[in-house]
Amino acid sequence: MAPKTPQIKYKRIVVKLGTSLLTGGGASLDLNIISSLTAQLSSLHNRGAELAVVTSGAVASGRAKLGLTKKIKGIPYKQVLSSVGQSHLMYTYEKLFEPQNITVAQALLTRADLCDRAGYLNGRNTLLALIELGVISIINENDVVAVEELQGSRFGDNDNLSAMVANLIDADLLLILSDISGLYTANPSLHPEASLIPEVKKIDENIFALAGRSLGGLGTGGMLTKLQAAKMATACGISVIIAKGSEP
Ligand code: ADP
Repeated sequence: MAPKTPQIKYKRIVVKLGTSLLTGGGASLDLNIISSLTAQLSSLHNRGAELAVVTSGAVASGRAKLGLTKKIKGIPYKQVLSSVGQSHLMYTYEKLFEPQNITVAQALLTRADLCDRAGYLNGRNTLLALIELGVISIINENDVVAVEELQGSRFGDNDNLSAMVANLIDADLLLILSDISGLYTANPSLHPEASLIPEVKKIDENIFALAGRSLGGLGTGGMLTKLQAAKMATACGISVIIAKGSEP
């Protein structure tokens, strides 16, 4: 008898893939990591999960595509890198999902779109219709018109956008995949003695006080914006898991 496929616990899942994960800490996208992630997402999709992916990595992809070795500073340049990188990023997802017969759709959103009632409803209707059709939406901030993600501001690295999307489509789970297994008692890069907190029941100021920013690499928001996203999503009744995406 064939082994029984385990039941999925959550039906509608928003998966956020961070820059630190997608680049594996390097300067450009790590194809091995992305293909492992798309294989796992395909398996979930084939088991009936309804998925939407919020992806970072456009700037890293654009930098590699243009063959830039040194970092060019400034937001307009980052917008250029992001617009070059976004199409390459989409192409990568499209190619990796294709063998599984999974169709993907690109959705570029800004927070302002979602704060406007008409924009909120249009975004919601489109994303829900895509789910209905079995299409996986690949969502990113529209960096050509919005710079919050690029500024690495407190909204940083798509974490808050992923919580807004989870709320928008009434997700059961927001899965934030990064280069770290979850929230530690302090940033483990600075405090090697820090330990993993397996579960947080309430996100209050004591929990926020544990979170630091991202150090080095291309990550932006660090743990702070992940906790902001977790607070927003859990307030809407959505479970949140922060996990290391390089682990199956
Ligand atoms: P991503 O690009 O996936 O969004 P970031 O690099 O922005 O990821 O954020 C993850 C990083 O946050 C970790 O690698 C770690 O250096 C940092 N960090 C800061 N404080 C903490 C903490 N308390 N627990 C875990 N990670 C933390």
